[in-house]
Amino acid sequence: MRYCARCVYPENSRPTIIFDEYGICSGCRVHESKKQIDWQGREKMLREILDHYKGEAQRTGNLYDCIIPVSGGKDSHYQVYLVKEVYGLNPLLVTYNHTFNTQLGIRNLINMVKEFGCDLIRFTANPDSVRKIARYMVRKVGDITWHYHAGIFTFPFQIAVKYRIPLVIWGEHGYSEMTGMFRLEDIPEFTKWCRQEHEMRGYEVEDLINADSGLTRRDLAPYIFPSDEEIEEVGVRGIFIGNYIEWDSRWLADMLMREHGFEIARGKRDRTFSLFHKIDDHANDVHDYLRYLKFGYGRGTDHASHEIRAGRMTREEGIEMVRQYDHVRPSSLDFYLDFLGMTEAEFEAAVEKDRDPSIWEKDSCGKWTLKDSVVNHVNDELVEAARLPLVAEDDRTFGRNNRHLYYSDKFQPLPPSKQTGVSRDSEDEFVIL
Ligand SMILES: [Zn+2]
Repeated sequence: MRYCARCVYPENSRPTIIFDEYGICSGCRVHESKKQIDWQGREKMLREILDHYKGEAQRTGNLYDCIIPVSGGKDSHYQVYLVKEVYGLNPLLVTYNHTFNTQLGIRNLINMVKEFGCDLIRFTANPDSVRKIARYMVRKVGDITWHYHAGIFTFPFQIAVKYRIPLVIWGEHGYSEMTGMFRLEDIPEFTKWCRQEHEMRGYEVEDLINADSGLTRRDLAPYIFPSDEEIEEVGVRGIFIGNYIEWDSRWLADMLMREHGFEIARGKRDRTFSLFHKIDDHANDVHDYLRYLKFGYGRGTDHASHEIRAGRMTREEGIEMVRQYDHVRPSSLDFYLDFLGMTEAEFEAAVEKDRDPSIWEKDSCGKWTLKDSVVNHVNDELVEAARLPLVAEDDRTFGRNNRHLYYSDKFQPLPPSKQTGVSRDSEDEFVIL
């Protein structure tokens, strides 16, 4: 396997990653290109877009200027903070509730609604349908959270059409940030193609309705995208605010903790050293473990690559994170095997056909082993030339200033400098939402 000479992504990363002649991946190049972007100019473009839709809402008498799809995580908090507090729009927040929430996730969602004073529509999927979908899609494509991606990228558009709100605002374009799917110069917007091809792994609602899945159209109501005519009639458009405002997830998580009551995980996590990514759902570890079973890498690779690109971690330190985290069987797997009604052997057998032969091989005893790992590529030829300068020691991933944001065995995470409302009064709040 080939690995990026700068970060730790393998060549079989999804969506497809490309390596240039310096052995550097497209995700690293997209990250690097942020320095060349005229962010002031981009911000002006954003202002013009938002002003236009604000004017449209005034003209049509709509009391909401835009929709923000939210989970309650750091990106949602920041989207709402920008749109409401910085640009003064009145957004309607829309949550597709996948039903796999952590207490911390629910607590943060409530915090966000209260902190920024917004209206929220929260759609809760029927847990029985969710179970059927998860069971079927684990067997079909090795994905336990297909309904998340389908719901998150469909339900807000159903609301956009119903409430006649044409602008939907996402945060960062995740695939561009991770593997460089689009260049920043392209300013990608939401497309129905990307939704189906990537978020929903090529499957539409019709593909799930059959005797094998036991699913009917009623089970799949939140995943039925509005017709082209409906979208066109309202003029619905989805933008990514990360194309206009430089998105630095470490900075914004820290700022939101200090100033807006956002809370993050504490203590060691199963599959990553980051304490602020993907903290609102408890299926995420299993979802990520499935990626490891298919492609041989996981969240440790994502987050180490992110840190290396930001100059907060050396490639060697990143490789150590991959070694520590990518293979770990999450403790939540037992709960999900129970939920799916599968044994672990059935679960692994279901994924077998999805194992990428470029990284996995089956030995004579029937045991799957990795053919390669970035651990074997510490001294690859192009690595030295690809290195980025590091930030000051205190600002590195495990430096003094970041100990509350990243877990290290050496240093227990410190509480944020300003302790914000922990969920002491939140028992009553759970009843409201
Ligand atoms: Zn890279």
